Amino acid sequence: MTEQPESAQVACSACGSECLATSKSCWLCHADLANSQPIITASVVLEHPTKSTADPILTGLTIACVCFALLIGIGIVQSDPGMLIPYLIFVTPAFIATGGRAAWARLSGKQLSGSQLFLTFMGSMAMIVGLFGMLIVGGIVALFLACLSMATNDFR
Ligand SMILES: [Zn+2]
Repeated sequence: MTEQPESAQVACSACGSECLATSKSCWLCHADLANSQPIITASVVLEHPTKSTADPILTGLTIACVCFALLIGIGIVQSDPGMLIPYLIFVTPAFIATGGRAAWARLSGKQLSGSQLFLTFMGSMAMIVGLFGMLIVGGIVALFLACLSMATNDFR
């Protein structure tokens, strides 16, 4: 009854995410889906032995990460409330992405695996950190170029 059509979804060969067979790259890790395995039935995926043993660990790891992030937040509030805003900018999108994906999976009647939950949380965190890192690096480069142009002006 709940079986998906054979060609509707494929499992990403890199992260195991469920992707549309029509898409060229994984929505989560952007890996090429050329070598991915089609998902035939939901029961086959659930009966996979390696998945069932790894998932509780990864789910626990995700919960641990969330608890750790919350503890850091509490620590920041107690030491310097002003630092809470930049911290929330980093953490909130990750929470929204993870919670949103879990809620979406529940609504569509699918069980979200621990690895998918973990990758969503870690992926969104990495994306935000990467984005801010690029902004900082860009700022440093701009500053360096400004100093360089000023220095060359002094020599003339
Ligand atoms: Zn992937």
